[in-house]
Amino acid sequence: MTPILSNNYYINFNEDAYKKLNKYILDFKPSIIFILVDENTNENCLPILLQNLETSISFEIIEIEAGEKYKNLDTCTGVWNALTELGADRKSLLINLGGGVITDLGGFVASTFKRGIAFINIPTTLLSMVDASVGGKTGIDLGVLKNQIGLFSDPEMVVIDSQYLKTVTQRELRSGLAEIIKYGITYDIEVWNKSIDVKDLNINSLISLIYRSIEIKNEVVTKDPKEVGIRKVLNFGHTLGHAIESYFLKSESKENLTHGEAIAIGMVTEAYISEKLFSFPSKEVENIKKSILDIFGKVNIEALDYQAIIELLIHDKKNVAGQVNFVLLTNFEEFKLDCKVETPLIIEALNYYNS
Ligand code: NAD
Repeated sequence: MTPILSNNYYINFNEDAYKKLNKYILDFKPSIIFILVDENTNENCLPILLQNLETSISFEIIEIEAGEKYKNLDTCTGVWNALTELGADRKSLLINLGGGVITDLGGFVASTFKRGIAFINIPTTLLSMVDASVGGKTGIDLGVLKNQIGLFSDPEMVVIDSQYLKTVTQRELRSGLAEIIKYGITYDIEVWNKSIDVKDLNINSLISLIYRSIEIKNEVVTKDPKEVGIRKVLNFGHTLGHAIESYFLKSESKENLTHGEAIAIGMVTEAYISEKLFSFPSKEVENIKKSILDIFGKVNIEALDYQAIIELLIHDKKNVAGQVNFVLLTNFEEFKLDCKVETPLIIEALNYYNS
């Protein structure tokens, strides 16, 4: 697979990617290599990486606990302390080996440690391959508020190796599929058609969708690295989706949703709002709802939950001057940015999802 050039770094694929990684290390000569993992990627992914890493430079493993609830400042402090105790300096290299939590948090830790050390992303979930590891957004949550603290900072390289997906659960694969569906709806109808038709979530059925999704994400973020314009399209489904994800994260009585499960609900509700405000075809709204419910099942959002979800919307990073901003659709592959939506319509959209 041909490497994809992003803003001054390459996204490399499979065996070729390890050759590039080893060459980078040979040329850069880091003082120490740190590999950031969580308990799952330590067990399932580190052996694959170590089999492919050819270097005489010493390395240290730093492990954090798995899951979104650890994507916070306490975990960063733990990693900064570990780097300090293990002798990291400005010539050290951090390899982030994991899902979006590892690549987001690891990128943030590296970019702020001693004013910034080099880092490389090796995404190991479908979601982090097609979305989180590319585009330079790094960061952590503040309480339940998603990605409130962070900075744009590019990795030296991204290594995509689909082998890592062998141990990812079906639920986590579906989570990544949600972002692929988003690219399909907003950018490439062929991706939409293929993504809702994936019967069996396995590596072979996903390989071409992964490559195309990375191409789309990269095309958008290279045009608008700091999200002042077109990059906002990648937030389709994420305005309500993030609020719902945060709400489930903080609610003790509800099981956490994966990022993709929350975004899937966001896409159904935001497609509905698109129909009401911009005449997005109603049969396509139905089609999106049906396809998403078929893949993700129905999540129970009660009317009692609505108010708290709407309150969380006001913390969305995309807001300007207290105004919540949505990405809405006029058709497949056609969208409008910075759309204002009144609360009653948001409630109607949640009711539509529930109906
Ligand atoms: P995650 O990192 O929590 O991974 C999901 C689970 O899979 C974890 O339990 C993890 O330990 C496990 N896991 C990872 N790789 C595995 C493997 N190969 N085998 C077995 N288990 C494995 O979550 P995620 O879904 O990868 O990413 C979600 C995060 O990404 C969110 O925090 C979201 O905000 C962020 N994100 C960031 C961007 C961005 O542009 N920076 C874009 C989209 C999402």
